[in-house]
Amino acid sequence: MVLNLNRCSGCYTCQVACKMVNGTRPGVDYTSVERVEWGEYPDAHRRYKINICMHCENPSCVAACPTKASYVTDEGVVLIDYDKCIGCGACITACPYGARTLVNEEGYAYGDTPLPCEEQQEGLMNIVEKCTFCYGRVSNGEAPMCTVHCPGQCRVFGDVDDPESDVSKYIESHNAVHVEGTHIWYVAPEGYPEDKLPKTPLDQLAANNA
Ligand code: SF4
Ligand code: SF4
Repeated sequence: MVLNLNRCSGCYTCQVACKMVNGTRPGVDYTSVERVEWGEYPDAHRRYKINICMHCENPSCVAACPTKASYVTDEGVVLIDYDKCIGCGACITACPYGARTLVNEEGYAYGDTPLPCEEQQEGLMNIVEKCTFCYGRVSNGEAPMCTVHCPGQCRVFGDVDDPESDVSKYIESHNAVHVEGTHIWYVAPEGYPEDKLPKTPLDQLAANNA
């Protein structure tokens, strides 16, 4: 997935679309959007940072999982098998990006009645959740929901191994930067603070420990 931070207007549509397709509970977000500000008036700037599971190439979450509930698909997508997840949280500690959330509390967005989208999660408890790159949708030839609904078309998803795919052409035409060790590329606005750019897993770990 390419994240074009140059085009993000901070509307949070991706975050809401993600919640609706996955029926996530309050406080569980597979993706989120954060304000980034720099400079001083009259040369002040505001842009956004997009947080998401980076679908690491050698994921520390998978290595840490004692039950093999966390695994990598042939395409490189990192998923969780809820039938095997015991909610121990080892993967949460191991993930440098804070991309995982333990689900151990029932709750709905509005009162005691679940929204139709929230019904799919009912009964799932003491498990860990995170972004799946909308694996079910992608397997059916559809795109991840966040990429479909982003009005700025900030997010581009596809097969980077196919040089003729739209995402490969986008990466080339926009000089997108690959975050080594992950399946994320980005395009950043001029002047965007270095410390807010998506980092490699090792660099993120070092930043967390600094
Ligand atoms: Fe695992 Fe975290 Fe990497 Fe996602 S970002 S693959 S949860 S280590
Ligand atoms: Fe940014 Fe697109 Fe998400 Fe809106 S939907 S916050 S523009 S990435």
